[in-house]
Amino acid sequence: QPKTIGILKTPNDPRVCLLPKEVKKLTGELALNILFEPGLGSSLDIDDAQYIQAGALPKSREEISKNSDTIVSINHTFSEVEMKGGCCFIGIFNPLFHDSKFAIYQKNNATVYSLDLLPRTTLAQSMDVLSSMASLAGYRAVIKAAEIYNGVFPMFTTAAGTLTPVKILVLGAGVAGLQAIATARRLGAVVEAFDVRKSAGEEVRSLGATFIEVEGYAESANAGGYAVEQSETYQKKQKELIHNHILSANIVISTANIPGRKAPLLIETRSVESMQPGSVIVDLAAEQGGNCELSKNKQIINHNGVTILGNSTLSAEIPAAASKLLSNNFFSFLKYKQKAEAQDNDPLLSASKIMDNGEWTHPHFIKQLQ
Ligand code: NAD
Repeated sequence: QPKTIGILKTPNDPRVCLLPKEVKKLTGELALNILFEPGLGSSLDIDDAQYIQAGALPKSREEISKNSDTIVSINHTFSEVEMKGGCCFIGIFNPLFHDSKFAIYQKNNATVYSLDLLPRTTLAQSMDVLSSMASLAGYRAVIKAAEIYNGVFPMFTTAAGTLTPVKILVLGAGVAGLQAIATARRLGAVVEAFDVRKSAGEEVRSLGATFIEVEGYAESANAGGYAVEQSETYQKKQKELIHNHILSANIVISTANIPGRKAPLLIETRSVESMQPGSVIVDLAAEQGGNCELSKNKQIINHNGVTILGNSTLSAEIPAAASKLLSNNFFSFLKYKQKAEAQDNDPLLSASKIMDNGEWTHPHFIKQLQ
């Protein structure tokens, strides 16, 4: 008996988790029954006929909920739908920050996988939604900043005088930060970047930016390539360093995160107040509490003439590009899951599973219960 997968739209998100091309592989290569919510691709001008041609059937949310073994969407979408008990849900749920949203799944004995919990290993690379979306967000952050900023990016030498290139400070040189540096450099900006991981310095320099560091510190402790929270002395020195470099920056793109923790606070109010009016801060860590003391998630605010844009899902502003990558990530996960499910303790499935039949399985939540 082939399994049935239902694909739901995510309210207020124009991105689509599975495009017709990947749906065709699900119905063909993986021999799955696919149901989809009508209008699934409408934000990208993909009509239902293309999904039908790929072998999927249009059904109402209620029908999908009743008849699917697994329901796939980008984010939570189920509150108003009657959940079928024992169903499996796959999405990008950012569970470490939104744990209260899981009561409904528990009540309905659901099994939940969140793709943002996959480890950043070679095996998981094709399903790595964090990298796909961070890369687009880093790019988009620079484009947004360029739109808001009242000056130019490259140097202009004209008969009427010379315009100096914009100075950009990038905080956090992970996937989003490196893409922001590359984009800003392509537009002619002069870029400085900072990361607690000294090893990021080489990548920063290879993109033509200057790496700034807290003097006197060797490679800080890290966990599997990720940053960890720093000591108080380090944090103080770091804030001072950032403050000094912000003075000459026109744009700051901040991307610093510590998995499962509140984002590190790197930009103090006094630093914002030291920036020139017309400067721009884009805070990609806004959903995790923000790198800037003043930023508010999903809001654009103006403080003393400095625009602060807080948004952790900028990839949703370029939904066609984001959906193309997400669709590959979700397909790879479904394909992997079909094979790996038979084995106990598969490393990727157990890392991304939050709950099994209504029971918490992720260490973060089990620890909270103790
Ligand atoms: P992330 O989104 O968790 O954090 C973004 C950046 O912020 C990181 O570079 C981190 O070091 C930095 N940061 C944290 N605290 C900071 C602070 N106080 N000040 C300044 N910077 C701070 O990270 P990410 O972009 O997801 O990448 C994390 C690591 O994982 C990187 O080493 C990356 O190369 C690696 N990675 C590996 C794979 C893979 O092998 N499949 C895929 C993606 C990323």
